[in-house]
Amino acid sequence: MNIHEYQAKELFDKFGVPSPNGRAASSPKEAYDAAKWLDVKNLVVKAQVHAGGRGKGVFKNGFKGGVQLVESAEDAREVASKMLGQTLVTKQTGEAGRLVRKVMVTESVTISREIYLAILLDRESRQPIIIASTEGGMDIEEVAERSPEKIVRERVNPLAGLQAYQVRKLCESLGFDTTARQFGRLLHALYKLFIECDCSMVEINPVVVTTDDHVYALDAKFNFDDNALFRHPEILAMRDTDEEDPREVAASESGLNYIGLDGNIACLVNGAGLAMATMDIIKHYGGEPANFLDVGGGATKDQVVAAFRIILGDPQVKGILVNIFGGIMDCNVIASGIVEATREVGLSLPLVVRLEGNNVEAGRATLAGSGIAVINASTMADAAQKIVAAVA
Ligand code: ADP
Ligand code: MG
Repeated sequence: MNIHEYQAKELFDKFGVPSPNGRAASSPKEAYDAAKWLDVKNLVVKAQVHAGGRGKGVFKNGFKGGVQLVESAEDAREVASKMLGQTLVTKQTGEAGRLVRKVMVTESVTISREIYLAILLDRESRQPIIIASTEGGMDIEEVAERSPEKIVRERVNPLAGLQAYQVRKLCESLGFDTTARQFGRLLHALYKLFIECDCSMVEINPVVVTTDDHVYALDAKFNFDDNALFRHPEILAMRDTDEEDPREVAASESGLNYIGLDGNIACLVNGAGLAMATMDIIKHYGGEPANFLDVGGGATKDQVVAAFRIILGDPQVKGILVNIFGGIMDCNVIASGIVEATREVGLSLPLVVRLEGNNVEAGRATLAGSGIAVINASTMADAAQKIVAAVA
């Protein structure tokens, strides 16, 4: 799960990560009020979308820049009116862009240095890792490619926590002098936030040093571990489903694992491993999967119906492959779900079903007795070939 910058600021405030004062606004009037409330001359208006690269982004109405410096509350209102309700296209949004529903109005600071800072999970060492660079404010992928020596890494033992010597080392390699203490405090606070909120990534690009020697986090990108969200109802409440794929939202509401892809063959499977293998074999026979829909080990009939509804509601889908290996899963539950779903929403697409395992006879009988035009398959290869041929 991701959150917006203005929500990240709430977490920064809670954990003591310094960031400029600011407030979110959903209308030009609210942007004006936020600017008045801040009561400073130099302000920044920032489009709130779940994507980076906003500063260099362009709105579909031709307005350039999702991050704008302004000098009065009137100008903040004016700029907000050009952003709100408009679609912002950045390097990270793809061509479709993102609809801006909120802006954040913040104090502007005078920057003397920009630092890149991120904490994420390093899969190799299975530890949190701090990644930082003196080349802040830039595309970090570009820095990694052109001057990899300018990126520093520090792994943190999760049991010992972030140590003072590690902070000193980072301060030194990033060239902090008079502001080293401030940056050190920011690092400790951010690490605490990362651990306590079960983040999988926090990225601040940039952390800045101002001309009057203050250190601030100016931007924020957060990723939370979905599996730990049950421990953080206050973070879960920040979820903005408008920013997510509606198919994925519907799936998560029904407790299904769903990932939308670009092809035209929908895959309904049980278990992530089987899902991967099913996608591979579809590709092997020249097809393209439209999604990855995993009903898990203990799906109910209702969940199967929900899964089918999601699949059939996607205009991209031209055929369906059901590939179930019943271990804990009862094949007849799947079969009954398929029958009920197709009764409810109708079925005009080719449907290939390969069932195997627990209670498979009953499952096959349910499908055979239902009158649905099912194309039965015996093995995974057989199933993949049949569905690829059916959508061709
Ligand atoms: P994005 O990464 O999505 O483009 P940022 O929040 O990083 O958005 O803003 C882009 C740039 O705008 C920053 O790198 C920084 O140079 C400048 N900027 C952002 N917020 C402020 C601020 N409060 N004061 C001054 N400059 C800012
Ligand atoms: Mg940025």
